[in-house]
Amino acid sequence: MEGHKTVKEILNSIDDDIEHIADTAVRIWGIFQYSDRKTPVTVKDISYIIGVPEKVAEDCLRMLEKRRKLIKKVDGGWVAERQSLKEIKPKKGVNRIHMFSGGLDSSYSLLKEACSIKKAMTKETIFPMFIDYGQFAAPVEWEATKAVVAYIRGFAGDSKLIDDPVRISLASDLFMWCHNVAFTGTEVGDEEPDIQNRNMVMLSVLCSYLIACAENGGVKTAEFKITSGFKEKEMKDCSESFFNGISQLLKSYKPNMIFTFSVMKDRNRSAIKREIKELLHGSEVELKKFCNITTSCYSPKNGKACGNCNKCKAIESEKASKQQ
Ligand SMILES: [Zn+2]
Repeated sequence: MEGHKTVKEILNSIDDDIEHIADTAVRIWGIFQYSDRKTPVTVKDISYIIGVPEKVAEDCLRMLEKRRKLIKKVDGGWVAERQSLKEIKPKKGVNRIHMFSGGLDSSYSLLKEACSIKKAMTKETIFPMFIDYGQFAAPVEWEATKAVVAYIRGFAGDSKLIDDPVRISLASDLFMWCHNVAFTGTEVGDEEPDIQNRNMVMLSVLCSYLIACAENGGVKTAEFKITSGFKEKEMKDCSESFFNGISQLLKSYKPNMIFTFSVMKDRNRSAIKREIKELLHGSEVELKKFCNITTSCYSPKNGKACGNCNKCKAIESEKASKQQ
């Protein structure tokens, strides 16, 4: 365990009781969910990854098996239920991955990435990934994701610049503790839109998926540069130091796979829109088109923004303050 940074140290926000450790185990479970299809996960693995004694790790695993039914015991350890997914084909060397939500920030970040590749003429391809973690807006976000990819390909006149997006569905009750509006899709949940440790879950699942794709394709050494719409200020698991921690953690797990994450500078919507307009050659018409296909509402109704959730309200008040 020498030199190994535990998840607890990384997040510095998890209590000692078993319930929380079990939650952590569920979250970190993503590391195994899509990787190493033959070997079951052992108590030793979990003990190492979440940084607790084996006895505690075993309690966690039993809890996961009994209460959450996310895993089951087999000979030699535990296995998680997996889904069959379209796999991308990572290459040896640098691979560009984009975590996509269909929102303005991640759409901007994808556009920026695509434009810089186009400019450098490196002929690279970006692989956009969408994670459905059970959020109410997931179907609308997924449609937006596909539309933004199509738009950028069309704008750049290059269909190979961005690969078809992959949708990963977390078929589990990972966030069952969260009564957030992002899940309920009504205004009865917690007003606070942030979902604790969501990014950590998404990243561990994404990285495991990438490791599995590389290994299944016979690639033993690869680098993954991951971009997203994550902004520095937002959450504990959204800071540069957190991403560095996750990189380190993954490095101790898979030394030949390098993961780097970039975080966006914190900016408001109008600043981001200005930058989008610039990337779209200063065209107001294109900016409007681009923004109209992105989505940010937590509770969309019939595919349209509700106008009522705190995300919609924040956009409205920004518009109003601009008009004054
Ligand atoms: Zn809304």
